[in-house]
Amino acid sequence: MKVGFVYDPIYLKHDTGQHVENAGRLEAIISHLEQTQLKQQLIPIKPRAASIEEISQVHHKQYISRIQDAAQRGGGWLDADTVMSPDSYEAAVYAAGGVIGATETVMNGEIDSAFALVRPPGHHATDQRAMGFCLFNNVAIATKYALNKYKLDRIAIIDFDVHHGNATHDTFYDDPQVLYISTHQYPFYPGTGRAEQTGSGTAEGTTVNIPLPAGCGDTEYLQVFEQIIAPATKRFKPEFILVSAGYDPHWADGIALMQVTTTGFGRMVKIIKGLADELCHGRLVFTLEGGYNPIALATSVKATFDVLLGNTDIEDPLGQPPRRFEPPSISSLIKSIKEIHLLP
Ligand SMILES: [Zn+2]
Repeated sequence: MKVGFVYDPIYLKHDTGQHVENAGRLEAIISHLEQTQLKQQLIPIKPRAASIEEISQVHHKQYISRIQDAAQRGGGWLDADTVMSPDSYEAAVYAAGGVIGATETVMNGEIDSAFALVRPPGHHATDQRAMGFCLFNNVAIATKYALNKYKLDRIAIIDFDVHHGNATHDTFYDDPQVLYISTHQYPFYPGTGRAEQTGSGTAEGTTVNIPLPAGCGDTEYLQVFEQIIAPATKRFKPEFILVSAGYDPHWADGIALMQVTTTGFGRMVKIIKGLADELCHGRLVFTLEGGYNPIALATSVKATFDVLLGNTDIEDPLGQPPRRFEPPSISSLIKSIKEIHLLP
């Protein structure tokens, strides 16, 4: 398997200071990939800057200018959670361009799959508002790019970050060409993502929200992947799959209350890879969203690469949650979501 990765030091120059979403996240990933000698099994993809035209498929041009101006003025806080530095605009433009580059390389057939290791993350940034550590919605911009450039009819976005990707949800809510599936802790930040929201007009059924109670671990996530995500994706028959990969459902991540393990992420990725192999010639691109415990993040990203490469050995140095509390039962939730979406 030829697996690519996007990375560039520009992503470290989005300087957020003591913020939980900081450059140390990517540094932890890269150094772990180097130490474990996994990096040499991957094909590097140099990111380019996304053009204003490309970004404006998702964001208002005035908003793009506002972010550029804010960087030129030295940065600062855009909302209670989201901060910029002088280089943040450039980093954000290259983050969007990085996911586009990964998409191009996969769609051109040069590689089988890719992971864009970018920051700032994207799935909370709306058409005209930065929020939740995000400036531009990288996955949405790459989706629009792929639809236009390659004249695709159907793209699936699977978002397993612990937070609901409100902005990706809104961008494609009335777009029948894009299936958006999100697993997220609920109720939780940003407050959106009810199961009853399923898309509008001709896009009815192409939004699949899976709001999960706190405490879900590998067993619950795998049930959701097998019983909802896999059949919904198979029914949609995407020609390309993008993944908003957030590793903040890990039990060691302090931002939320899920109990997924590094091994669990590997199993989820294996299901996604199986769907891509079955439905779209393996065409699959991951992009980094959240994940705030450096060890959990680095080992889980490595597990993701191992699965994409076809390596069977998944290293999980953190293991199972130490004080495992009883996970919630989600069988009635799964049943009701299957009913909402008329899944078998
Ligand atoms: Zn998140």
